[in-house]
Amino acid sequence: MKIALIALQGDIAEHKQAIEAAGASVIPVKHRGILDGCDGVVIPGGESTTFMRLMKREGIDQEIIEANEAGKPIFGTCAGLVIVGRSEYGLGLMDADVVRNAFGRQRDSFEVMLKIPVLGSAPFKAVFIRAPIIERVGPGVEVLAKIKEGIVLAREKNILASAFHPELLGDARLFEYFLRMVEDA
Ligand code: GLN
Repeated sequence: MKIALIALQGDIAEHKQAIEAAGASVIPVKHRGILDGCDGVVIPGGESTTFMRLMKREGIDQEIIEANEAGKPIFGTCAGLVIVGRSEYGLGLMDADVVRNAFGRQRDSFEVMLKIPVLGSAPFKAVFIRAPIIERVGPGVEVLAKIKEGIVLAREKNILASAFHPELLGDARLFEYFLRMVEDA
């Protein structure tokens, strides 16, 4: 199974390691023309405005839209959620209204033990870093985890998106869940 990792900006090395640990090979994507040969796409954390600018310059934004239309699973984490969701910086692939930097300066970065029923009963330690949040989702979106401020993990058909960083603490379960989406697609 080949996962395209958009590797223009952000925490690429950590994502590569986490996806490999979950059992897939990773193809870093810096230019157009590569994504088509992959089974799924991961858009990592970073800085969404810079990310979007670089993607547009390379034409990768269009390839992600096409991958989605072809039913290829896409996983956006943190800035990747901003990109797949709806906001002025996003592609609007998921019917979810996203607010960037939703936690302000006071809570720039924090960890939460999340209940994520689709991953089993053990809580998932989630790291939030200048994180976005999902304020509203449409009827086709499945809410997989939330905290008091809003929704932090959601799925709509073949798109998965998290407000937190699942790649940092060595818990492979969320990437394994995504790889099962890729297998089923
Ligand atoms: N605050 C960043 C943005 O909205 C996302 C932060 C992150 O990916 N850790 O672009």
